[in-house]
Amino acid sequence: MILCFVGVDLGRKKRRRRSIHGFPIWYCRSTLLRPEANGRIRSNDLICTLDSGTIEDIYSGAGRLQNPPSDDLLLQAFMYYFRFDAFLPQIDAPDLPPAHIAIRNIDRTFYESLGPENLSKKCKRDGCNRGTISLSVLCRVHHFESVKGKPCPFDD
Ligand SMILES: [Zn+2]
Repeated sequence: MILCFVGVDLGRKKRRRRSIHGFPIWYCRSTLLRPEANGRIRSNDLICTLDSGTIEDIYSGAGRLQNPPSDDLLLQAFMYYFRFDAFLPQIDAPDLPPAHIAIRNIDRTFYESLGPENLSKKCKRDGCNRGTISLSVLCRVHHFESVKGKPCPFDD
């Protein structure tokens, strides 16, 4: 079963509340406006859909942060899911970084997890003068590239 919820305009205070299968659901009109042929402006009424299982998961996730979850927390959890396609990790969680920054952060964490290079053992990659990392015949840069299958953006 598909349930409709959410436009996005919390600033205009047009949100409404409904209850579907016992779950409080909010929706509101989109801020996107478009002119009609008669020159009047009307909202686009964009509608997104979530299946009932996802709505229950969002509700349950909010309930783990605060039991029972307040109306404001539920709204926050639904909006977070709407914006980031992810469950609210904590109350008042900051926005997720853009994807390219998140990927770079993950890559950096992996790169740093490789540990220091042993300068007494040279990397096996032709032309590389760096040392090897523990349990590898490659330096951090070349081990990163070997595992990730892409150029390493780091060289420290
Ligand atoms: Zn190397």
